[in-house]
Order: sequence, then C-alpha cells, then structure tokens
Amino acid sequence: MRLTLRRVGIVLLLTLAVFLSLPAPRTHAASGIVVDEIKHWSNPNYTRIVITTGKKTKYTHRLLKKDPSINVGWRRLYVDIAKARLGPNLPKKIPINDGLLKGARAGQYDKDTVRVVLDIESIEDYKIFALEEPYRIVIDVTGEKGLLIKKTPEPQPVPAPGAEPSLSQQLGLKVKVIVLDPGHGGKDPGAIGRDGLKEKDVTLRLGKMLREKLKTAFDGSVIMTRDTDVFIPLEERTAIANSKDADVFVSIHINASPKRTATGIETYILNISHDQEARRLAARENSTSTRSVSDLEFILNDLIKTAKTNDSSQLASSVNNNLAANLSGKYSGIKSNGVKGAPFYVLVGTKMPSILVEASFISNPTEEKRLQDEKYLQTIVDGIYNGIIEYLKGSKRV
Ligand SMILES: [Zn+2]
Repeated sequence: MRLTLRRVGIVLLLTLAVFLSLPAPRTHAASGIVVDEIKHWSNPNYTRIVITTGKKTKYTHRLLKKDPSINVGWRRLYVDIAKARLGPNLPKKIPINDGLLKGARAGQYDKDTVRVVLDIESIEDYKIFALEEPYRIVIDVTGEKGLLIKKTPEPQPVPAPGAEPSLSQQLGLKVKVIVLDPGHGGKDPGAIGRDGLKEKDVTLRLGKMLREKLKTAFDGSVIMTRDTDVFIPLEERTAIANSKDADVFVSIHINASPKRTATGIETYILNISHDQEARRLAARENSTSTRSVSDLEFILNDLIKTAKTNDSSQLASSVNNNLAANLSGKYSGIKSNGVKGAPFYVLVGTKMPSILVEASFISNPTEEKRLQDEKYLQTIVDGIYNGIIEYLKGSKRV
C-alpha cells in the first residue's frame, strides 16, 4: 500500500514536471501586443493614419469593394493585426470625414486579431508600412480629388518701376508653404556633445532663426513642426508637412560620430543606402537599431517610386553647396561630405521635395564650440536659406 502510494506520488510529480516544462499556450494575452492608439492627420487630398501597437507583430491588409448586399455602399480598407488585443482606452469609432475617409473603426475580430477598418469616401491610392521602436503601422491615403485640385493662381502685385521685386514675386505664387523640422525635442535630446550641448537645442535655435530669415522675404507661410522643446514622433512631422501641403520640407539635424575627428556637413534624401556610416546615422536619427533600418529598406523600394527623388536631390545639392560655401567663407577647416541617401523615417511618405541636413558634428570639439556661437549658427542659417531659395527659383522654371 505504502509502495503504491509512493508510486502514485512519483507519477504525479513526473506529470507535474512534464506539465511545467511545456511552453505556455501562446495567446494574445501572453504576447502583450495592445492596439492602444490610432491617430490621424488630414487634408482633403491626404490622410495619414498611425496605429500604435508598441511591440512588433504581423499584419495583413485588404481593400474591399462596395457591398450593397450587406448594406455597405462604400469601399473599406481593413488591417488585421496579429496576436493583438484592443487597448481599454481606444475609441471603437474615430470619425474623420475629410472627404477621403468617413472614419476608422477598431474591434477585436477574434481572440488573437484586432481589425482596424477604414470606411472610404473616395481614395485614389494608399500605402501601408511599419515603423519600429515603438512598433506602429502607418497608412497613407491619397485622394482622387488630389489630381483635380490645383492651386489657383492669384494676381501678383506688380513691383514699382525700378524697385527690386520681392522674393515672393520672384518665386511666383507656386511656392506657398515651407515646413522646417528641427530634429528631436523633449525627451529625445538627439546627440550630445562632450561639453553637454544637446542637438535638440541647436536644431530648435537654427529652425527659429531660419523661420525669421525666411519670413522677412517670403510672403507664404513658414511652418515649424515644433517651435518649443517638445517631443514629436517622426511620422507626425511628415504628416504635418503633407497635411499642410508644403512645397518644401527641411529637417534640421546635427551629426555625431564615435570618431571625435569626424567633421563637416552633409545633406540627405530618402533612399536605400549601402554606406555603413549612413545606415548607422539613419538608425540613430530614427531612434532604432540598424536591423530596423534593414526592415524599412525592404519596403522602401515601393515608397521611393512615389517620392520626389529628383526634386529632393536638387534641393539637397543646393542646400549642401550653399551651406558649405557660406561656412567655408567664414570658418576654417569646413568640410562638405556631400549629398547622400539613407532611410530616414522622417522622410518616408513626404509628398514634396524633402531633405535632412546634418549641419555640423556636435561630437567634434571644434564644431561643438562653434555651435554655441550665434554667428556660426547664423552662417548655417544663411547657407540653408540661400540653398532653399536657389532651389525654389530654379524649380519655378520647370
Ligand atoms: Zn538628429
């Protein structure tokens, strides 16, 4: 009897050991992927929807035709997010009503899948891609109306005889909106120099100074993605430029390298890059790993086709050349590292010529010292300004 009981005990213990060693069943609850935010930005030609899940997951999407048989007289685009659950504070319905989309809806499709449905009013095209850390799915929707809406020309004021035409008169009315994007901000300081100078403070100062300079000559609007020390996600900066119908987008940054000797200026457009330095820089500016940069490049081929690559290259050359010339005229040892391509999140999906300027190295002791001097900053601003204006004057002829 005692023997039998002992045997039973051993069997029970073994069973328990086997049970404990089995992996726990994988459910959405275990994955911890929560759809906790859906944001959108829009104008009548463009809507960007951002679904934040925090952790990386798989998703699928499909565009559905109108289905009058179930009383749905409009097209729908749905995104199924795997191994996810709805966040408790996520509204089930998000009205948009911008002419492209009626709104977005989110629901727990089955125990492992969150489905986000966009109810479509009228769209021409859409692009969907993911950005990482935190993981978010971005849907860019463009409108059919976008092809028809043209900026209506208004009568131009005629300059008085003998008077120099204003910059806006020279540029014509084609150029109305310039968006400046001071990199980083708030909880994200960007690169930090040996003296403690923070990239976010330098880029904000440069952005404000450039806005002032542009405003004195340019009648259109100069919009900044931030003009205080605040954190703005990268995809939101792009969305601001697109929803404001910007003609030009300039993201301002200061470079950094583990090599203290690295110096100079360089200007980027969105592209796939085989240059390890450029890829590392993109990872740092994206606040991601280089692995995420590779993931992004995988989908970038498709996105680059729609990007204004030629215009962006011309803008980048104008800005880089003018910046280098301006700085070299006043400071010694200025180096131009040229125009390059790299996969920067902030440039993904922009609808206008867009560049990212690295206007010195904060990690270089000489350049960090210079970046604390107002005159040096003004020289950078004048250089970028000259570059933007040269590009705009040139592009007007096209
Ligand atoms: Zn930066």
